[in-house]
Amino acid sequence: MTSNQIRKTFLDFFRSKTHTIVPSAPMVVKGDPTLMFTNAGMNQFKDVILGNTPVLHSRIADTQKCLRVSGKHNDLEEVGHDTYHHTMFEMLGNWSFGDYFKREAIEWAWELLTEVYKLPKEQLYVTVFEGDATDGVEFDSEAWDIWKGFVAEDHILKGNKKDNFWEMGDTGPCGPCSEIHFDNRPADQRAKVSGAELVNKDNPLVIEIWNLVFMQFNRKKDGSLEPLAMRCIDTGMGFERLCMIVQGKRSNYDTDVFQPIIQKISELSHLNYGEGFKYVDIAMRVIADHVRAIAFSIADGQLPSNQKAGYVIRRILRRAVRYGYTYLQLASPFLYILVDVLVTQMEHQFIEIALQRDLIKKVIREEEQSFFRTLAAGIKLLDNVMKNLQKDNKTLLSGHTAFLLYDTYGFPIDLTVLIASEHGIDVDIAGFEKELAAQKERSRGDAAIDAGDWTELIAIKESTFTGYDTLSENVKIARYRTVTSKGRTTYQLIFDRTPFYGNSGGQVGDSGELKTKNETIKIVDTLKENGQTVHIVEKLPEDLGAEFTAVVDSEKRASAAANHTATHLMHDALRTVLGTHVEQKGSLVSPQGLRFDFSHFQKVTAEELRSVERLVNAAVRENYPLEEDRNCTIERAKDAGAMMLFGEKYGDRVRVIRFGSSVELCGGTHTRATGSIGMFKIVSESAISAGVRRIEAVTGAQAENLAYMAEDTLRTIQETLRTPQVMEAVQKMFAENETLVKELAALHRDKLEAVAEKIVAELAHQEQHGMIVVQRQLELKPEMVKNLMFLLRQKSKKIAMVIGTVWEGKPTLAILLGDDVVARGLNAGQIVREAASEIEGSGGGQPFFAMAGGKNPDGLNRAMDKAVELING
Ligand code: ATP
Ligand code: MG
Repeated sequence: MTSNQIRKTFLDFFRSKTHTIVPSAPMVVKGDPTLMFTNAGMNQFKDVILGNTPVLHSRIADTQKCLRVSGKHNDLEEVGHDTYHHTMFEMLGNWSFGDYFKREAIEWAWELLTEVYKLPKEQLYVTVFEGDATDGVEFDSEAWDIWKGFVAEDHILKGNKKDNFWEMGDTGPCGPCSEIHFDNRPADQRAKVSGAELVNKDNPLVIEIWNLVFMQFNRKKDGSLEPLAMRCIDTGMGFERLCMIVQGKRSNYDTDVFQPIIQKISELSHLNYGEGFKYVDIAMRVIADHVRAIAFSIADGQLPSNQKAGYVIRRILRRAVRYGYTYLQLASPFLYILVDVLVTQMEHQFIEIALQRDLIKKVIREEEQSFFRTLAAGIKLLDNVMKNLQKDNKTLLSGHTAFLLYDTYGFPIDLTVLIASEHGIDVDIAGFEKELAAQKERSRGDAAIDAGDWTELIAIKESTFTGYDTLSENVKIARYRTVTSKGRTTYQLIFDRTPFYGNSGGQVGDSGELKTKNETIKIVDTLKENGQTVHIVEKLPEDLGAEFTAVVDSEKRASAAANHTATHLMHDALRTVLGTHVEQKGSLVSPQGLRFDFSHFQKVTAEELRSVERLVNAAVRENYPLEEDRNCTIERAKDAGAMMLFGEKYGDRVRVIRFGSSVELCGGTHTRATGSIGMFKIVSESAISAGVRRIEAVTGAQAENLAYMAEDTLRTIQETLRTPQVMEAVQKMFAENETLVKELAALHRDKLEAVAEKIVAELAHQEQHGMIVVQRQLELKPEMVKNLMFLLRQKSKKIAMVIGTVWEGKPTLAILLGDDVVARGLNAGQIVREAASEIEGSGGGQPFFAMAGGKNPDGLNRAMDKAVELING
């Protein structure tokens, strides 16, 4: 079976057990502060499991793109070194939300593996949770008994909390699990040592393939467990590992999931995989793995950057480049070339990667190029440091340098060690680790947010959002908690219902007030967490159980809404003016303005920007009314041509927003009609990375102010020039200025002539040993000094001039030697270089003329004295 068939077989099997097949959620997580990337199939169903969102289908199956490179599940360091952990992998899963439980989950898993994929039963082992006293969870005898119906008892093992109790993160849904392991060793080895002894022992050939999780608890902040209202089944099977076993291979990388990419790497590096060179193989595995993670992240809208998720992606990319550079001698961008192979393999299942191929390649290539430059700079730095060490007969590179290379140049410690060892130099690893730990400590301190458990006042299923229709609402506090960050304490409140829009979809959250008869509390900000609006206040109301009026700041809301609607109109206009390759890559909507990032491969010209402005403002004047469908099926939305974004997770029911020709899926707040925008004005256009542009714009009063500012500037210019015809006046000024400059230059020449005459006349009788040595400090521009010197040189062959000048606070030393003086063997260049140290400067020139600029004007006299000394010998 090919990998595509293996995947299809899984989905078909569960379809036949009446599961609904759903698409993978994006791999990059938006709107969940506890998680950057999807790390398991269950992430997208977290709210369903917690009971925050209603169950639409009680049986679901899918393949989910997962990334395990940060947080609780981080396999990055293993990847490439072993043959069965990836950064990005597909997790095949089936779910039951309050439907079937352990029996069916176990029965079907066994049926699929042994009867459909036909894996040999004697090579399969299963584990069952042994229980944990501190958590108060007992041995899972129920699972044990069910397994006994299928599996020989010596193939059922007990496992501890580490292996057999699954948790997504420090808090959240969790439960005991049963893992299925496969003993992939050759028969002779299996005969010698039983696989039972190797399960969960990090043996690369006895590995876990499928985890059946029996979700029945929610882990609270204080570590305690509470039962979930609805018991769920959540299973996860590593697709690449399954392919290895079904295809009879011993490494995930030998399957058709990875082989085409590895072959391409071979072709690029002229090296072969699997010929016994350990690090060549590791490097090829790292690259084949990482390019998937990088390409899929970009497809989901996460570009490499300097912070958070973007930084994680950048580091993965750099890790791949480094392995290629160090072990495969790849010294120019190569990752982006692999994207085409990846697209061919994956486009059947994940169309997003094909649709964004050009963008993905551009972004990766640019990142690679800039990293190769950093790499080169780092190697130069390292070379210099090593040269200095060798000069001093030292052989230990400091931890500080190693850390600098790591932190600023992206050099992992092993690369520094490798290069240093080639020069017989050791690296102070302990020192490096100390600096690394200190940095980690610093960033932990910066990021530390301490959120307490929720205190529930009234039980609600979900807090209803009424803010599309009203800005004021009578509410009760359903739950609250205390949050401390950087020494500041705030409180988060969830109401039974709320008109407040919480920060999400790029639109900043509402602010406003929470009022009773006796008290008014400011709601300073709002967030959206797990679909709920979280209201942030700086103090808690006196009576938490009171009935409140929650009022949104209507002015701010109106401005934000205008900017959001304008964003839709602009998106539409950009696609009209630039083409339909324009895709939203990021958006920020606030009461102050809007920012919009989109894919486009070159600068947007001034004319194009103007066309976009005209289209948007025309739509504003049309006063298109808001046409809103809050409960549209995703199919109807697609038919209506609604713009859908990559990396966005849409439910079965979506909200469709239409203004004229613009149709988008959107949860944000909008104006009743486009006329309320008033006016739309672009403020700036720039690049934010390869293939992605950013436009900032304003609307309404802000746009009006912008027009006033331009008008005021023009008026001030007119008043200063004392004429309304500014262009003519400016042109005339330019012409006059040119004439003046010429006249001034002539005057300067005359003045210099006079100064030169005077110097020569004064000094003619000071000739000594056939030289006239002159030392002067003048107040002249350095260029003028040069002119003066050349004049003097024409007047006397015996002259040796040392001139110092300070211009705009900077000292300059200049030396001129007449032909006769040069003939005696003196060299102006050498003299100036030696003397310039007194002004902390450097410079040079020819034997007859040289100049040096410096930093320290106080040393100018000493510098001139020194030069004269050198001339006099
Ligand atoms: P392991 O102990 O092998 O790291 P795990 O206990 O972390 O696995 P789970 O969190 O239970 O794995 O995930 C479910 C399944 O996903 C595993 O049985 C395995 O097949 C697969 N899987 C987990 N991590 C990876 C990874 N980094 N790369 C590829 N597949 C993985
Ligand atoms: Mg793991």
